[in-house]
Parts: sequence; structure tokens; C-alpha cells
Amino acid sequence: MRCASVIFFLTASALPAQYKLPNPQVEKIVSEVSEQNITEILKKLESFGTRNILSTQDNPTRGVGAARKWIYEQFRSYSPKLEVSFDQYRLKKIEGRASRVPRDVDLYNVVAVLPGTTNKEQRIIISGHYDTIVMGRPTGTPAPGETPAPPPMRDPDLDAPGVTDDGSGTACVMELARVLSHYEFEKTLVFVTFAGEEEGLLGSSLYAEKARAASQKIEAVLNNDIIGSDISGSGRMDNRRVSVFSEDPDDSPSRELARYIKDIGARYLPSMSVETIFRADRFGRGGDHTGFNQEGFTAVRLSSPEENFANQHTVTDTFANTSVPYITLVTKVNGAAAASLALAPKPPVTFEVTERNGQKVTTLFLTRGKSRYDAALKWKQENPEADLAGYVIVYRSTTSPYWEHEVFVGKVTEYTFPDVSIDNLVFGVKAVDKDGNESLVSPYVQAPRVKRKIEVY
Ligand SMILES: [Zn+2]
Repeated sequence: MRCASVIFFLTASALPAQYKLPNPQVEKIVSEVSEQNITEILKKLESFGTRNILSTQDNPTRGVGAARKWIYEQFRSYSPKLEVSFDQYRLKKIEGRASRVPRDVDLYNVVAVLPGTTNKEQRIIISGHYDTIVMGRPTGTPAPGETPAPPPMRDPDLDAPGVTDDGSGTACVMELARVLSHYEFEKTLVFVTFAGEEEGLLGSSLYAEKARAASQKIEAVLNNDIIGSDISGSGRMDNRRVSVFSEDPDDSPSRELARYIKDIGARYLPSMSVETIFRADRFGRGGDHTGFNQEGFTAVRLSSPEENFANQHTVTDTFANTSVPYITLVTKVNGAAAASLALAPKPPVTFEVTERNGQKVTTLFLTRGKSRYDAALKWKQENPEADLAGYVIVYRSTTSPYWEHEVFVGKVTEYTFPDVSIDNLVFGVKAVDKDGNESLVSPYVQAPRVKRKIEVY
């Protein structure tokens, strides 16, 4: 847990009394996540035999076609408020040795949208992937310095139960769609189960590309992949920690989301520890948050710190080899974080991008002020929420992983710390509403210096 000191200033608005305390609505949501429902979802997903995107499309009980129809129908049954759809693409065959898409195929993400009330444009996504794969054993040992040949893909109609990878993430998304759709939120919540993750993050990358092209305001993506394993192949056991991976740099918006999940996790599930892993993903592995990061969206991956590689992408990734209590805990962390974000104001804006001579120029709203020795912060909030209480500035040392200090500054959009060097601290700002719901922190991140061509004779 972080140690943050709040300093009170005499401002026109007061810091809400509920700030940093559990919100009863979020507590209720957390309590409603059901281990029993998650069990039923996992068993049903396993019953389709395989959910490989190249498996049978028309069999009513087996294969990816039956699985996606079932997920779609489940979303529809949870609440009439959920807008359920298939997000469909016709994939072109991918050429090459060991291609996982050896022929053209249809790919369907299954999407359920719970429209927000007063802040509809802002979206919070909870995701996982419902597709599965089984791989053969790697062929041969590579010569020194040679890249190993990728393991061959097996017949897509063979059993690929994928209960932990990623039935667990799918169950989290579905259970939260059920629970959260009985409540109202200011922002829009989007529940997505992606397909084609196993073939190269295809469904999520296409979704993110489309969202970018449509200028969607995706505020946060909580992607869940492999959240069902609490004992590693080597026997390490841990059912009280969940890893949250976030991309660099250290003050990327994705890292702020990871810090937010850690804070909220500690508030609502103190027995569970959210471990912020300050790297984009595991070594040599992929996840559906990456496609969003590549389009400039804030996205993290939640995952078990204890994976069992012997079960992954094999027929032993079964219900018997997953941990429902662990999935339930991680689902509760997701529910608390997503609900908190969806109730909170949108994050303030700390920079602006303009065009100068055909080049994009980023201007940070952080300066040394008139004196040239102050820390002068500004931020923007378009259409501030009616229930906005004010803003909190956070700061910390550049080597500290978590925010160390907080200052509530009220309903203003600029604040100056006299005689404080901006070079030696990291600053951020967040918005807080009258019920104490807090937005993500918007960090002040310095853009890397652009390389310039130097002309010489
Ligand atoms: Zn996966």
C-alpha cells in the first residue's frame, strides 16, 4: 500500500469525506462476483472441446462457432441494458512456415456494451480471449545461434480445452458483464471476449485499430489472460497475488492504470496483493493489451504469477487443472477497478499536440513558471462533470515506484509550487467527484527528444 499524505488547502471546494474510503456500491459489486457462476462458465467453455478459430463453425455443441454463439447468448441473458454484438472480420491466410492461419477464416470478437449515463463517450474495457490452441512438441534442437523452429500447430479440430488460457479471462469478463449490468455507471463499460489471440493477437489488434480510426475515447483496458493458475509447474504456490503488466516508460498512462488497480485492489480486497510488474508483458510472450498499446491506448494485462507451462496450449489445460477460487479473486479485483473508474470523472489532460510545419509537437502543461524556478502545473478538463469536487496533484521522487504525496487543490486548473524544481520530481493530476470517486492520474510525461539530422561538409 502506498503512503500518501494529503495536505489541505483553503479552497472554494472541500475534499470529499469519502475520498480513499470504500464506496458501498463497489463493495456490493465485489461481493456479488460468484464462484458458482464462474465454475459453470468454465465447465461450459471446456465442453466445446476446442475454441480454435479454425475449428468447426457449424457444429451446435463443439468448436469455435458453438462457443461464440453461447457467449453471445449469455451476454444477452444478463440484462436488456447490454448491447451485444459480434465484431467480425474475414482474415486472410498468413503465409509462411508454421503459419497459424494457413487458410482464410472468419474471426468473431464477442462484445457487450453497457452504455454510460453522463459520460457515455469515455469507455472502460474488460477483456479476455475465448479462443484456444493446441501445439505439437517443438521439432529438434536448434544448432547454437539458430532460432528454434516454432512448434507445429496441430489439427484445429483436436481437443484444445483452454480453461486457464484463457477460459479464466473469458469467465472474468462474462461474470463482470452479469454483475455490472445491474448497475448504472457514468462511463460506458465494454466487455469483450477476443478471438485469434493465439494466432498473433489478431482480434484485439483489429478491434483497437478500428477504435483508433473511430477516435473512440478508451480510457482503460483491463485485459485478463491466464488468471486461473495458482500453482506453477515447478510447484510454487501463490493464490494471493496477481501480476499487472504495464508498458514503459515509467510514467506511461498504462502504468498509471496499473498503480490505480493496485490502490483499488488494496481498498476492496486487502487479502489480495496486486503486483505491478513494470514491463509490457512476460518474456517472449504476448497478450491482447498490446494491440491497444500500439494504437496509443492505456491498457494492462492481469495474469497469474504462477504459470504451468506443461498445461498451456495442451489437452491438459482443463477445468481440473484450474483454480476457481483464484479466478474469483482476480475477477473481484477487476470488478472493483472497472466500477471505480466508470463512476469517476474522466482524467484531466496534461499536454496538447499541435502541428508545426507538418510535424506533430507535444506541449506539456508543466513549466518553471514566471520565476523559472517554480513547478507550475496546468491541466484541462473538457465539459467537467457536474459532480466534480476538484483536483488532486500527486508527486513523487523519480526513483519511487508509487505516488508519495497528494495535494488537493480544489476546482482550479492550474497550481504552482513555489521554488520547486520540476526536474527532480514526477508530477501528475487526477479528478475527484463529490462521492470521492477518483479518476486515473494523468502524468506529466516528457516526450523523448527527437533525433535531428546534422548537416556536415
Ligand atoms: Zn492466452
